[in-house]
Amino acid sequence: MPIPMATAPGTFDVRPRFLEDVYEAASECNKCSLCQATCPAYATNPVEWETARGRVSLIRDAIEGRIELHEIADGPLSTCLTCDNCVAACPPRVPTALIVSRARQELRAQEGAPWTQSFALRAVLPRPGAMRALHGLARFTQVTGLFGLARRTGLFRWMGTVGALAEYVGPLEQRTAYQRVAQLPKAAEPVRGRLGFLTCCYSNLAAPDATEAAMRVLLANGYELVVPTIGCSGLPAKTLGDRDAMLEMAVHNSERLDGPDVDDVDGYVGDVASCVGQFKDYDKLVGDDRLVGDRAKEVARLTTTATELLARTGLTCTLAPLRWKVAIDLPCSLPIDGPWRSTMHQLLAQIPRLQVVELEEAAMCCGGAGTYFARMPERSEAILERKFEKIVAAGAQVVVTENVSCLLQLRAGAARYAPAVRIMHVMEVVNESMLTAQRRVAVIPE
Ligand code: SF4
Ligand code: SF4
Repeated sequence: MPIPMATAPGTFDVRPRFLEDVYEAASECNKCSLCQATCPAYATNPVEWETARGRVSLIRDAIEGRIELHEIADGPLSTCLTCDNCVAACPPRVPTALIVSRARQELRAQEGAPWTQSFALRAVLPRPGAMRALHGLARFTQVTGLFGLARRTGLFRWMGTVGALAEYVGPLEQRTAYQRVAQLPKAAEPVRGRLGFLTCCYSNLAAPDATEAAMRVLLANGYELVVPTIGCSGLPAKTLGDRDAMLEMAVHNSERLDGPDVDDVDGYVGDVASCVGQFKDYDKLVGDDRLVGDRAKEVARLTTTATELLARTGLTCTLAPLRWKVAIDLPCSLPIDGPWRSTMHQLLAQIPRLQVVELEEAAMCCGGAGTYFARMPERSEAILERKFEKIVAAGAQVVVTENVSCLLQLRAGAARYAPAVRIMHVMEVVNESMLTAQRRVAVIPE
């Protein structure tokens, strides 16, 4: 029950039972409903509790003791994609994604979580060695035919989220992004800086071509790269509500980025927008830590996406024309304020003949959202189908994004709804233009 506190004769204030840190923000919703039209969950299931207004109101009810969090676990807490699209439309900027994430963390603290999820978040994702072993195991199942057998027999469906993830990602490339680093060329002269490359553990396994393209583009544009072996940024732990695992990952990576090999870098850069966003929060998460706090603050201050860096400093490599019609799908993890949301446009504008076409609802989530596609397959599919209606209407030949979850989700959608449309990471497009220019020089020497 709420704990009423008399504030003045005849009035009562309420002391929050938990989530004190977001209670005030949750109280700022003025019920204007401007968030309604921006919510991908509401767009596919138009009921009040799907809106930011509805979710925040219910969480506030739970904080004040009128209901319990477990009563809103299925629905208001589970269907939110924590995409922040509502925040961009919200006049008082109620941070709904943060409030939902904190409510999930509180629920987890109250009720616990499946051991398989805790094992994945605490024993596998933070450990690069465990991720390497996972890649080896996945490749073994593919080479021996066990992967196909599991798919045919429906075994993946019995394996819960892990099985859904394996089926969704599909066969892995033979070599991870880390394993490709040794074959990369040197940075082009003149060298403009030295960067620590933050390899996303998910992209390392599931989209190494995109990560390799980002590294190649940075090198060709004069940036030396140091590629430290790091663990997961902590983002999956954040979205699934495991705060302790999230903080541990931030501490571990801050320690790792304090090593002698990365000590003298000018900054940190990554190719996965959501992962980069998590690193940029390290100051808020573990900036007060006695041992790694200073490094965590430095990591947060100096981290950016490869796209933002190159849009700001300019591409110096030679680019060949690409006669493509491209639509840009904005990862919802990009900050809603500042220049971040226009950086893909700025970069692609430098490629001759490339035509960028308008994509309606470009900033609305595609339904990938980390593990959302596995936790909420039907809802994720409805959101994805809607996204492809917009993509087809835009007449795009290529859809460009900047996030591994979006890349995989959109590729799955293209296979079903628009097989002629290619889905590429923005760095793969720049790399393609760069390689075409290099091939031309090889055929017609200057
Ligand atoms: S964070 Fe995304 S899914 Fe959640 S309420 Fe806001 S717009 Fe809807
Ligand atoms: S836009 Fe913001 S203030 Fe308005 S109803 Fe939605 S959450 Fe509340």
